[in-house]
Amino acid sequence: MIQNSSKYSQLIKAEAKRLGFISCGISKAEFLEQEAPRLENWLNNNMHGETAYMENHFDKRLDPTLLVPDSKSVISLLLNYFPSEMQTSETYKISKYAYGADYHFVIKEKLKQLMDFISAEIGDVHGRAFVDSAPVLDKAWAAKSGLGWIGKHSNLLTKQLGSFYFIAELIVDLDLEYDTPVTDHCGSCTACIDACPTNAIVGDKVVDGSKCISYFTIELKNEIPISQKGNFKDWMFGCDICQDVCPWNRFSKPHNEPLFNPNPEMLSMSKKDWEEITEEVFQKIFKNSAVKRTKFSGLTRNINFLKD
Ligand code: SF4
Ligand code: SF4
Repeated sequence: MIQNSSKYSQLIKAEAKRLGFISCGISKAEFLEQEAPRLENWLNNNMHGETAYMENHFDKRLDPTLLVPDSKSVISLLLNYFPSEMQTSETYKISKYAYGADYHFVIKEKLKQLMDFISAEIGDVHGRAFVDSAPVLDKAWAAKSGLGWIGKHSNLLTKQLGSFYFIAELIVDLDLEYDTPVTDHCGSCTACIDACPTNAIVGDKVVDGSKCISYFTIELKNEIPISQKGNFKDWMFGCDICQDVCPWNRFSKPHNEPLFNPNPEMLSMSKKDWEEITEEVFQKIFKNSAVKRTKFSGLTRNINFLKD
């Protein structure tokens, strides 16, 4: 059985690599004891803002066996999204993860292929795929599986690749060989905390989501509080500041997923172009993009907020 677990784990990791994932790590599906007080504290302090979905499924978020009955293993996967080309520097900015096609669809397809492979090669295995899905604490699982450590900015981080990648999981009812966490290499660095323009990083690995530019520009449905005027450093959809300043991101390498390539027109748009954007251009540039989450009305609200 142990032999099989090891063999199956190797097979799954090799296939994950073939599908384009940059790494794959595996943990036993069990209650996330260390995360429980952290999640409770974060919710009790209202650090999730108006994102009510974060309050739901509290128990399921900490225990994958409640989410997927009879589950034995959590397979965590990383998919690189670091782009080879960026927006021009003097313009309103979009978080790099949203440059290309909506990652939910791209990754779901890859996870489906990995699940099909497991069924074909290993047998009658049941499981569920998750991509940036509220009930799963993906960073905690990835860290537990040795894929990186959680940096002070609360993103997963590796010495080799930095932090510009998506995290996804397969939770399966198959015993596998489990990986172990890696060491934290943040040391005495505080670059992310010092650079955050809204002081949203309120402690080591604790981001107050309700103060983060990503929350204001994507999740918030109402008007952005006027008290934040001048704080967003031209970010109109998400924010990469704490990751851009992280020394480990000097080692980021461009992805090779064609679906993540941006519309070239989007990369060259000036502030004036964005201020004059029509719904027609929005639909063309962000066809299949995660930016559609804010809708045209949300993006123009953000642009108007950034304008002098
Ligand atoms: S994403 Fe931006 S606003 Fe949010 S914590 Fe990082 S630097 Fe601060
Ligand atoms: S900027 Fe420094 S403190 Fe922040 S995550 Fe990177 S290494 Fe850690």
